[in-house]
Amino acid sequence: MIDNKTIAAVATPAGVGGIATIRVSGNQAVEICDKAFKSVSGKKLGKLNGYQALYGKIYDGEQPVDEAVCLVFKGPHSFTGEDVVEITCHGGIFVVKKVLRVIFDCGAVPAQAGEFSKRAFLNGKMDLSGVEGIMTLINSQGEQGMSAALNVLEGSLSRKVSEINNSLVEICAHISAWVDYPDEEIEELNEAEILKTVSQAKGEINSLLDRFDSGMAVTGGVEAAIIGKPNAGKSTLMNLLTGYDRSIVTDIEGTTRDVVEETVNIDGCILRLSDTAGIRETGDTVEKIGVKRSREKIRRSSVVIAVFDSGDELSKEDKELISLCEGKPVIPVLNKTDKPAKIDRDYIVATMGDPVEMSAIDGNGLQELKDKITTLLGTKNFDPNAAMLTNERQRQCCLKAVESLTEAENALMMGITLDAAGVCIDDAVSALLELTGEKATQAVVDKVFSNFCVGK
Ligand code: GDP
Repeated sequence: MIDNKTIAAVATPAGVGGIATIRVSGNQAVEICDKAFKSVSGKKLGKLNGYQALYGKIYDGEQPVDEAVCLVFKGPHSFTGEDVVEITCHGGIFVVKKVLRVIFDCGAVPAQAGEFSKRAFLNGKMDLSGVEGIMTLINSQGEQGMSAALNVLEGSLSRKVSEINNSLVEICAHISAWVDYPDEEIEELNEAEILKTVSQAKGEINSLLDRFDSGMAVTGGVEAAIIGKPNAGKSTLMNLLTGYDRSIVTDIEGTTRDVVEETVNIDGCILRLSDTAGIRETGDTVEKIGVKRSREKIRRSSVVIAVFDSGDELSKEDKELISLCEGKPVIPVLNKTDKPAKIDRDYIVATMGDPVEMSAIDGNGLQELKDKITTLLGTKNFDPNAAMLTNERQRQCCLKAVESLTEAENALMMGITLDAAGVCIDDAVSALLELTGEKATQAVVDKVFSNFCVGK
């Protein structure tokens, strides 16, 4: 339920800047701001139509606080769907706090994290996936991700999901009419037709799921680990990928004792890259902790870059590392190809697939490595215009829908009564409605908005 209080918060980041914006939303927004603001022309904000602004000063009683421009949006044609005033003042930390304090003194209450977006959702301005698109857009770190998130915000995902849902709802309605009113003359259902629609809907949800990892990789980024035995050249490769000396490079084994992390943009694919301590058992306590963290890192990574020194024979540590990577999306890298090769290449091909041959010290083979990464994560031909899932919550809803549609397919193929298939299709519809927020519980809605910052 929407709180009928008028809320206010700073919408721009904390810190010193040329200007800052305070957002006020609610049915008393204009009245509250009129108490604190005096325009140069003497005109009141309450006299403005929507999308008009006045220039003047904010006053704390009789005391001027700052110059300001107040822009009025009239509900329902505003972000939240309510009356909104955006006060733009100077961007000093103290002055912004002071203006906000004055607005509170005039009757507004502090906004909770995500409360502006929550009101937009509750007022039907946006569905849940669109709201989550805002979050993805704010956190995007690359061009492709930004434009894909903007498309989600503008409804690409909710349109796609509604399209799928409409086809399923039509079947459910037909089945229930047929089951509930056997005496009416309802057109008989063709099971093959139903099966075709169900399978098509499932296929479309599956293609949304298939694009999930690549979507994450172009927006917020995915975890990637560089692993290998000590001295294989992991830190040198990390520095090559980040473009500067982030990791310490020495030929003393075990130099990178902890996990060094950095975000890199590989041709539009965002990796949260970590250079991990070499995998080897050691008596050194500090390095032991590092090795444990490396193992954990491999477990959590979406892509693992396994580095080998091609000038060395394959060691016990290398083989242990290969077995640690089993079942993981891994790219083997044979480093130091500028040295005579001693490594058992065939063993690596057989266990991990074709390696990238490179020399991290002079950058040879770097583009091949980048191509392998973008191909593996599916970002190479990523289409930012297509609908995309933007978080784990949405992914879980899709998985639930696919599970229910699979049950429906089985029921139809086994010739079980139509109403049994109808129940499964109905479950899939519910899962998709939860995704768009049309049928989300209060707990889900609260969880989504708790991830927002205040002022959004
Ligand atoms: P790490 O322990 O795996 O992080 O290895 P480092 O990146 O610290 O490198 C260990 C040593 O190998 C350093 O002396 C590097 O300069 C050297 N090194 C790294 N990459 C190459 C390479 O491609 N060719 C050669 N010849 N030496 C390299």
